[in-house]
Amino acid sequence: MGQRAGMVECITLDLKQSFDELNECVLITNSDRIIVFVNKAMEKLLHVARKDLLGYTTARFFADSEQFEKMGELYQTPSDQRHRQAYALELVLGDGTTTSAEVVSAPLFDSEHKLNGLLFFARDVSERKALEEQISDIAYTLEDALDAISEGFAIYDSDDRLVLCNDNYREIYAHSAPAMFPGNSFEDILRFGLSKNQYDTGNLNDEAWLAKRLEKHLAAEGEMIEQQLEDGRWLRISETRTKRGGIAGIRADITELKDARAQAELAFKNLSLMADNVSGSISEVDTDGRCVFINKTGCDWFNGTNDELIGTRLRNRFPWKEREIVRRIFERAKEGKKVCEEAVFHFPDGVKRECQFDCNPRFNEDGGVDGLVVMISDITDRKKTERALAELYTITSTRELSHKEKITEILRLGCEHFDLELGIISHIVGDEYTITQAHSPNDELLPGTVFTLGDTYCARTLEADKPLATVEAANSEFAEHPCYEIFALESYIGAPLLVDGIVHGTINFSSPKSRKRPFTSADIQMVRQFADWIGHEIARQHDHQALMDAKNDLERVASIDDLTQVLNRRAFLERANAEIHRHRREKTPFTAVMMDIDRFKQINDRHGHAIGDEVLRRFANSVRGTLRVADIFGRIGGEEFCMILCNTNIDEAMSICERLRQKISADCHLDQLKRSVTCSMGLATPAREDVVFSTLMQRADAALYQAKATGRDKCVPFSVALDPVGS
Ligand code: GH3
Ligand code: MG
Ligand code: MG
Repeated sequence: MGQRAGMVECITLDLKQSFDELNECVLITNSDRIIVFVNKAMEKLLHVARKDLLGYTTARFFADSEQFEKMGELYQTPSDQRHRQAYALELVLGDGTTTSAEVVSAPLFDSEHKLNGLLFFARDVSERKALEEQISDIAYTLEDALDAISEGFAIYDSDDRLVLCNDNYREIYAHSAPAMFPGNSFEDILRFGLSKNQYDTGNLNDEAWLAKRLEKHLAAEGEMIEQQLEDGRWLRISETRTKRGGIAGIRADITELKDARAQAELAFKNLSLMADNVSGSISEVDTDGRCVFINKTGCDWFNGTNDELIGTRLRNRFPWKEREIVRRIFERAKEGKKVCEEAVFHFPDGVKRECQFDCNPRFNEDGGVDGLVVMISDITDRKKTERALAELYTITSTRELSHKEKITEILRLGCEHFDLELGIISHIVGDEYTITQAHSPNDELLPGTVFTLGDTYCARTLEADKPLATVEAANSEFAEHPCYEIFALESYIGAPLLVDGIVHGTINFSSPKSRKRPFTSADIQMVRQFADWIGHEIARQHDHQALMDAKNDLERVASIDDLTQVLNRRAFLERANAEIHRHRREKTPFTAVMMDIDRFKQINDRHGHAIGDEVLRRFANSVRGTLRVADIFGRIGGEEFCMILCNTNIDEAMSICERLRQKISADCHLDQLKRSVTCSMGLATPAREDVVFSTLMQRADAALYQAKATGRDKCVPFSVALDPVGS
């Protein structure tokens, strides 16, 4: 305790009192490190009462005894080198706990300027330290967190100076990174980046680009802006004002996103372009049946703009029965099935279309149907063509119809198929266009009617050497044609008609009215098909005619006697037998006359066979010249002939034959013949029992024999006395 005596002499009472008032903790030791003074605040800090402090060394309060030793050096330091010093100390308190304190020491000198003791100011910093640790933790966590996010992040203060940024920010702007230290201004960082070619400034110069960028930056309205870097990368920047007036910004690299978006946009553009160029309607509807997409054709058919149609139920634009068809198709497609149906729809654009309706469900990720893609193709023409082709096949393959009837049917079919009222097959020779067959509402186009080729559209068709068509001549080059002026035909489709490769004429269909629908390539195909078939058919007809002519020729050759050009025996008997049947049916009279040149052998013998032949020819010609159309005359053999006089009884026949006999004599006369040529005739009419001509001929032959036997050069009618059967 002795150590404690007189220790406070160096401190005046006043000082002590004023120290007590301080919030700062104050402690004074003497040069032996013995506490000579503590104020109230120090008592409180150390958790030890003043009386237990005064006169004791400070050693007990050091958590680290080495530090106590180290501080001892202070007392050894020469006085003139002593000055204020600050330490951070861990103190052991009276209650055994520890605390952190900041301690400042100041030397105390006596009157001879000798170190007398040390004055310590202490401050408990444990709370602040804890707070600092917490802050450091938080700061660490924040930095950590900022670095963990994939975006670049930076905060600038209200003076636009960098406060904080994450590593991504530095990486994104790698060229600018050296300028990114806290306190550097945004503008300076930008300028640095510009100098290193960090940015793609496009067509702006650096200053203009900078001004624009700064303006956006300072606006900091949270608006998303896109920025391209020199290396081609794209960033999306979003900058917002903080509460304290700074600017927080986030940069995301959207290069891939942008590429993908550009690709998607391109794909969508291509798809739309394709969809718009498809001849059918393509649309997409949601599960409620409302349109979310529709192509150009769809807009045309449903008679609305894209804006008018999107969001509406397109099916409601059909008449209710057709609406039902669509509804049923949608119901099935919504179950996840592809549905394809053919049906006729009346579209809002006023056109009735036979359609193929394809409905494909669109599935979401869960496999549920979240929309339907609807394709409607107009198959009106295809169906019409199919039906027309089927009918054409039926017409051309049937055996029920003649060539002419088939062409009539084809013209009718063509008028129906093309929706035109006039159909014509023409035969063209030079500049002459002749209608050979036609189809018209009141049959006003008559076969045989002749036009000037140049006045018909067919002149153009022949020139073009292929099918031609127009649906509205007024608005086509057909308007210039004389045909338009003369006949005012608005619609026309025609094709050249070739027969055996040579132009025969044309097949064409036309109407004074313009046609609602344009001609399709299928229509052109169809008229070509008609032309082909008719061309073949005409060729076949020509062949057939040639065949018939040949056959007739052959038949004629087979039935005509070469020398005299009258019927030969076979042909004569055929006709004669037919005549006897007719006679039995109709009971018309007729007379058969057998004729034989008198002493013909002598002519041959005296003047030669050629003269004999000439006499035979003259004889036949002479008889033929007196015959009526219905009479039948033929050479039976050698110089024997037979004649049937129709509707002539025996008496009439006798007088005809008498005259004929004299005529023959005159006609057969030849100068070289010494005597005139005469002939004998035997006449007979059919009897009841004559079923075949030969029996009648036998009787006429008997009469002829009688004529020969009784002096020749005479006509003898048959009488029962001469009956060859009876005699
Ligand atoms: P009749 O008055 O009794 O009839 O005597 P005819 O000489 O006329 O009778 P006949 O039957 O004896 O002679 C017929 C002759 O006709 C015999 C034959 O040579 C001849 N003759 C038959 N066919 C032809 C022919 O095509 N040309 C020629 N030049 N002569 C023919
Ligand atoms: Mg004879
Ligand atoms: Mg004779």
